Amino acid sequence: NENLELIRASLKTCPDFPKNGITFIDILGIFSNPAAHRALIDLILTRIRKLDTKIDAVVGLEARGFIFGPQIALELQIPFLPIRKHGKLPGKLVTIDYVLEYGTDTIEMQVDILKSGAKILLVDDILATGGTLGAAQKLCAKLDYNVVETLVIIELLGLGGREKLANVDHFTTLFQYS
Ligand code: IMP
Repeated sequence: NENLELIRASLKTCPDFPKNGITFIDILGIFSNPAAHRALIDLILTRIRKLDTKIDAVVGLEARGFIFGPQIALELQIPFLPIRKHGKLPGKLVTIDYVLEYGTDTIEMQVDILKSGAKILLVDDILATGGTLGAAQKLCAKLDYNVVETLVIIELLGLGGREKLANVDHFTTLFQYS
């Protein structure tokens, strides 16, 4: 697939970032190349339009889920909602803590925007250990939202990410890296 190749050519692997021994995948090159950017949005839309279920809203994770999530929502003419790290969102919130390699983190979402039972497409750039996306699914469940599809651009294999996800039959990834 030509679109997949365009996107793949825009990804960079960065050894020893942010720490020695860690290989970081930089996806931002997709967005500095309009052809790759278009290819990404088109690929995601094609996959989403093939689903049996109609999506009511896109929920994206801070920070890179904010780059392409809203574009998907706009093309589908549905709302986009952000999930943010603790302390960034005003108003009434629902919150969840999750475990990181060292310590814990907290993510939050505003309440009362969608109806209970709303069908959600949840997006982020990368699935690594799955802690973040697993917590995001639980956060949506706390609001009685129904995450019908979870999508990332890249899945890093061998970190047990998928095992932390619910509804893994409805997990879409464009690329896998081992
Ligand atoms: P997890 O909770 O371990 O699955 O980590 C996923 C989060 O960390 C996502 O929000 C990613 O944006 C970020 N992340 C993990 N590994 C990478 C990487 O190699 N490149 C860019 N972001 C990463």
